[in-house]
Amino acid sequence: MKKRVAILGTTGSIGQQTIDVIRQFPELFEIVALTTNSNVELLWKYACEFNPRYLGVSEQAYTIARELLCNSESALLSGKDYLSTIATLPEVDIVVVAVVGFAGLEPTIKALEAGKTVALATKEALVVAGQIITSIAQNGQLVPIDSEHSAAMQCLIGERHQDVAMLYLPASGGPFRGYTYQQLKNVTVEQALKHPKWNMGPKITIDSATLMNKGLELIEAVHLFSLKPEQVKVVIHPQALVHAMVLFHDGSIKAQISKPDMRIPIALALAYPQRLPLNIPEPSLEELSSISFEEPDEETFRALRLARQAVKEGGDRPCVLNAANEVAVNAFLNRKIPFTAIVEVVEETLNKLPLTPKPDLKTLHKIDLQARQVAQEIITKISKR
Ligand code: MG
Repeated sequence: MKKRVAILGTTGSIGQQTIDVIRQFPELFEIVALTTNSNVELLWKYACEFNPRYLGVSEQAYTIARELLCNSESALLSGKDYLSTIATLPEVDIVVVAVVGFAGLEPTIKALEAGKTVALATKEALVVAGQIITSIAQNGQLVPIDSEHSAAMQCLIGERHQDVAMLYLPASGGPFRGYTYQQLKNVTVEQALKHPKWNMGPKITIDSATLMNKGLELIEAVHLFSLKPEQVKVVIHPQALVHAMVLFHDGSIKAQISKPDMRIPIALALAYPQRLPLNIPEPSLEELSSISFEEPDEETFRALRLARQAVKEGGDRPCVLNAANEVAVNAFLNRKIPFTAIVEVVEETLNKLPLTPKPDLKTLHKIDLQARQVAQEIITKISKR
């Protein structure tokens, strides 16, 4: 029987790579639903190729979509809750959640509640509501697509939780590894968008350059694998070949090593426990000999420290951190603030809002909006400087 797949966020980087994987294995997967936030033209191309039963578009893209897709046999869904509606369709087995940011939270929860397997690329969902999500998810129901977490999951197969001493999260260091704070101040959007190893969407590429991505991944790992924040250590690994390492109490380390190619974690999430022949070459001996690690410079890249502190304090802190970061990254991409101000905005937003210890989903929504507003005010202030 084919696995029936819905992809939320089809036209983003992960969505397109998911399509690539599914295209290679038509005997294993059937696409039931595809969504996009704004790239209706690409969605239409995929609709012609795969003829899914459902298509979903955001409200602002609906008018264009209705025109462009008028000849399609797929049902077109839109409106406020279209992602959650698609995530809970009875015809769907696996929901790939690959939308940007906070928007991925609700459909993730709804899909888990409906008993779907969730292949989660939107790390922000776990960052914001890790406790809520992990309390709903049954064993094996939530499969990470983030490469480091997929790697950690692979290292942990067959192991006991109490035997784990430390999870090492490798970070390539981004385009500005080795930069001083002063040098960072003047970097441009174009420079920040040039990631040395991974080809990704703009939001995550900027997060990689500030190291906030690794901070968010630290929070994600704490929730996914029930670890203490002290049990997750970020290491700089410029070659991006080792995607996670787990240290056990007997002194052994298990690592997952492969070329940096997102199709590997995507395929594993879709086909788990099967490993699909993806035609991705293994790293050469020469590449393997080049593997190196170093400590991150947390004085210059303060995002890491902020994220660790946020998950330690718990409550709404990761939600505030994430919201402020999303707004600040946008402001940087729109050239409203300098690169170093991204983390400044996040820090100031955290300082301005008091801690809410145990927020439920509704409260998290409110706090998310509030944090965005506060971050926006700080941005306005900075852009006038
Ligand atoms: Mg990652």
